[in-house]
Amino acid sequence: MGKIVSFANQKGGVGKTTTCVNMTTYLASMGKKCLLIDIDAQGNATTGLGLNKTELQYSAYDVLTCETPLMDAVVKTKIDNLDVLPASVDLAGAEVDLVYVKRREYVLSESLEVAKKSYDYIMIDCPPSLGLITINALVASDSVIIPIQSEYYALEGLAQLMNTIKLVKKHLNENLKVEGVVLTMNDTRALMAKQISEEIKKYFGKCAFETKIPRNIRLAEAPSHGVPIMFHDASSKGAKAYFALTEEFLERQPKKVKEYKK
Ligand code: ATP
Ligand code: MG
Repeated sequence: MGKIVSFANQKGGVGKTTTCVNMTTYLASMGKKCLLIDIDAQGNATTGLGLNKTELQYSAYDVLTCETPLMDAVVKTKIDNLDVLPASVDLAGAEVDLVYVKRREYVLSESLEVAKKSYDYIMIDCPPSLGLITINALVASDSVIIPIQSEYYALEGLAQLMNTIKLVKKHLNENLKVEGVVLTMNDTRALMAKQISEEIKKYFGKCAFETKIPRNIRLAEAPSHGVPIMFHDASSKGAKAYFALTEEFLERQPKKVKEYKK
């Protein structure tokens, strides 16, 4: 059974998509079968993986409105071991459509039941909101990764996000865990970055990933070429950081016990 991880923070532009796309690509390159679910109407993960949003037959919208089974809407990417459920602009209307659906918080979770058997990791790129779409992602997930941008207002809104996670855990998905918190766009020279990093460590303890993602222009360029960083500039600081983060993530996963035949 695959593990489902959401990348969430209602704050916009903090690195959710960049982290989701690049971690998932490194996992795929390590031989893990991965599905990336793009449930943001902006479709940044979809285009970041080289797909053309205007040429899609189905998208996450059709799945969230129960029109299409999830596996029918999944497409292959050019990257080995990496499939994607793409997003299109009509997802912007899905929040409203979902209101009228029965068990509306569970639509994604129920759609993923079958897919879970075919993948090692299913990574969900959430939109910058705590609306029904993000709730669907959290309800479907085993854990959540929270990217936090290293800036003055970094911690603003985090209490609201943590409260939402707590409520989802209490009422909708008791298995949800915070997998980790990752600092993005970090400027190692700035004193402020150090202070933010210390505050996050204090607040989240072991949950904070040791690996921090530096501000790196190569990471910002990659999406315009429709490729993850490992195919844009694998030796850049940004690429090395996301590789290290993926390794740190894997180290946190319970090791599968090998069965020896007598
Ligand atoms: P949204 O809330 O709009 O979905 P997001 O949280 O998914 O945004 P990203 O799209 O990943 O954030 O990043 C925001 C912008 O910052 C993008 O233009 C991205 O290319 C750029 N960016 C992300 N991480 C870095 C980094 N480490 N260094 C430089 N630029 C970065
Ligand atoms: Mg995004």
